[in-house]
Amino acid sequence: MPPSADLRTLLWQHLQSLQSAGVDCLPRPDSQRVAQLNTASPPAGAAVPPSPAPTAPPAAETAMPRKPAAPVSTAPTDAAAAPSLEILQQLVAGCTRCDELAATRTQTVFGVGNPHARLCLLGEAPGADEDRTGEPFVGRAGQLLTKILEACGLKRDDVYILNVLKCRPPGNRNPEPDEAANCRGFLDRQLDLIQPEFICCLGAVAARNLLDTQVAIGKLRGSVHDYRGIKVVCTYHPAYLLRNPAAKGATWEDMKLLMRELGQPVD
Ligand code: SF4
Repeated sequence: MPPSADLRTLLWQHLQSLQSAGVDCLPRPDSQRVAQLNTASPPAGAAVPPSPAPTAPPAAETAMPRKPAAPVSTAPTDAAAAPSLEILQQLVAGCTRCDELAATRTQTVFGVGNPHARLCLLGEAPGADEDRTGEPFVGRAGQLLTKILEACGLKRDDVYILNVLKCRPPGNRNPEPDEAANCRGFLDRQLDLIQPEFICCLGAVAARNLLDTQVAIGKLRGSVHDYRGIKVVCTYHPAYLLRNPAAKGATWEDMKLLMRELGQPVD
């Protein structure tokens, strides 16, 4: 019988912990012992059928994947191999690739919402409220985002909300390019696992990082972009709307464009 998903997850976690401890290969199982364990005890006096000759597994099956020597923290290759959002979240929680962010964060902020959502909302990084609660977009900007979603006939649970960075930059400064690069493996794997049809980039930092461009957000909004086959609509960050309410009209036009693309047009 093939192992269950839970068993595979536990095994994967176990291998990860061994790997983190510096173990990069495992001894081959004692094939004779395995054969004994797989053979039910016969009733007393019954003839014991001969066991099939045990076959040693090929060396490749017992070798663990190589891990880069340094740093100790999670590498992007680990992220790319994560089989589920839960495992990826655990990798993020243990990540220390960005020294300053890892030293100053309260916790990592992975993402929240429907793991099978058609639409992902992408922000730039957690703020103070998000760092405290572990959930993206829960402060004043998050409350405005919830209202924008509701105006579109959506609930937060209908979408998946995530950020470019999983750790709060001190003082809510913009993410540094090397920090975004460090975290990119997590973001890409998160999107691979969710497989959304649409991404809405909230603000210039999210849009420029995802689309790898330096074009201004004012020029990126108003049209549909492509990211690895996913349709991307860019709009202003809700925090910007709090400071510049006049931009709400433009944001509403962007949301109408997005909802038309989703096949759920709004007035
Ligand atoms: S921002 Fe991303 S890459 Fe940097 S420490 Fe946090 S989880 Fe790791």
